[in-house]
Amino acid sequence: MLLTATLPHHLRRLGRIVVDGVLPPRCLACGATVGEPHSLCSGCWAAITFFAPPWCAVCGLPFPHPMGEDAVCADCARERMSWDRARAVLRYDKHSRRLVLGLKHGDHTHLAGALGRWMKRAGGEILDNADLILPVPLHWTRLFARRYNQAALLAHAIRAAGGPPVAADWLVRRRRTPSQGRLSAAGRARNVRGAFALRRGRSVKGKRVVIIDDVLTTGATVEECARVLRRAGAGFVGVLTLARALRAGG
Ligand SMILES: [Zn+2]
Ligand SMILES: [Zn+2]
Repeated sequence: MLLTATLPHHLRRLGRIVVDGVLPPRCLACGATVGEPHSLCSGCWAAITFFAPPWCAVCGLPFPHPMGEDAVCADCARERMSWDRARAVLRYDKHSRRLVLGLKHGDHTHLAGALGRWMKRAGGEILDNADLILPVPLHWTRLFARRYNQAALLAHAIRAAGGPPVAADWLVRRRRTPSQGRLSAAGRARNVRGAFALRRGRSVKGKRVVIIDDVLTTGATVEECARVLRRAGAGFVGVLTLARALRAGG
């Protein structure tokens, strides 16, 4: 560490080229050898569902057929959420699970760069005019166990890809919530109610903000974060996640 810090820039660069040359690039999802670094193998490209239009203007749910630019899905027509628009890069399913969980539980922080670029592209229409992006916070006890917050990692990667500035610690978790994994949709909503707050002294009044998270399942967590931001006077609240779970058959 000390040695590399004192090396001239071009020497460090050379070192990186040598390392890249020695280790063959691996598929981000399955670990198979690939031709290009930070990419997927052809099998994973084919198996993972990347969301693309036509989709719901509000939540980004893909439609099987073009429905017009302002068309919304049944859920969005029935219920208004606290956020204005949501987008995700890919479908959370058995094909993408390893990619997503690798970021959450593994030590694959190197994944974040590539995923941040994908999110920057997929979230273009909500990121373009945004003032700030806010990662969903982990409770500090969980942060301590995991060493990093995957949502913050993605937010910084989006920023590095040319996205809006990161307000890393603006959303705070007031209490630790039990893991959402086994809870129903209603249970998840109850579980996170009142769990988040805006850090004292920060203001989002009139600002266009985008909440960043890794996976959207029932949406209870981002809805709770969005309510906090909306109450604090945010002018626009977007949601951008790497993955989104869809109901079977949806
Ligand atoms: Zn693969
Ligand atoms: Zn929708």
